[in-house]
Amino acid sequence: MTTAVRSSSVELRDVHVRFGTLEVLRGVDLRVERGRTTCVIGPSGSGKSTLLRCVNRLQEPDSGDLLLDGESVVRTDPDALRQRVGMVFQHFNLFGHRSVLDNIVLPLRSVKKLGKEEATEIARARLAEVGLADKAPYRPSALSGGQQQRVAIARALAMDPEVMLFDEATSALDPELVKGVLDLMAGLASRGLTLIVVTHEMGFARNVADEVAFMDAGRIVEQGPPAQLFDNPRSPRLQRFLSQVL
Ligand code: ADP
Ligand code: MG
Repeated sequence: MTTAVRSSSVELRDVHVRFGTLEVLRGVDLRVERGRTTCVIGPSGSGKSTLLRCVNRLQEPDSGDLLLDGESVVRTDPDALRQRVGMVFQHFNLFGHRSVLDNIVLPLRSVKKLGKEEATEIARARLAEVGLADKAPYRPSALSGGQQQRVAIARALAMDPEVMLFDEATSALDPELVKGVLDLMAGLASRGLTLIVVTHEMGFARNVADEVAFMDAGRIVEQGPPAQLFDNPRSPRLQRFLSQVL
């Protein structure tokens, strides 16, 4: 993949999210520099998905600020923001009744307002980049889980995002399909896209991330380069978490 990317820094400042009486994010500060990759790790229920959803405003914070490229985007048009911040989910979220190609073409037409020819050209190029040019006419259900996830990544990339969010993108995949998706994500990181990756793949976090953030109970408890967090965890909570997952 050689396409040049225009990426942005991302910053969350003192973000709080409550669901009723449950405070799910309790003052989250996170800064990811342009072109860098941060992996977010932590136990189930610690707020990782909610944090990611705040970055493209699928979740609106109760308080705090979100900055893209240094500019606050909490009061801008969320649809415009979502063109700049792509997201890939655990369960792909493809349109099951449309072809693989249409899954990429339709959002380009409806969101980017592109004509059919231009949208198709971009979609075919993105499919080729993820190694699935020959799958264009098929329904998603004809593809393996790993291939479906690569289609979802191609669909997000077709929007030319400045930031990509991955929420456990490989958790639903059979083990032998995980590597292809992780390799694709590592390729995006090396191309200079800004990535925030929620993952249980500690090998990916160690090898690809510039920084790792450990969340517990709605807060980032510890953050730093992977070697520091994995080899020298300071907080007892991170030590306990790592002893369970490594
Ligand atoms: P993680 O991704 O780390 O597993 P989540 O961000 O999904 O954590 O969830 C954090 C907490 O917020 C959990 O206790 C979860 O049950 C709760 N939660 C998440 N979304 C909602 C919602 N829409 N309404 C109520 N509670 C929610
Ligand atoms: Mg989650």
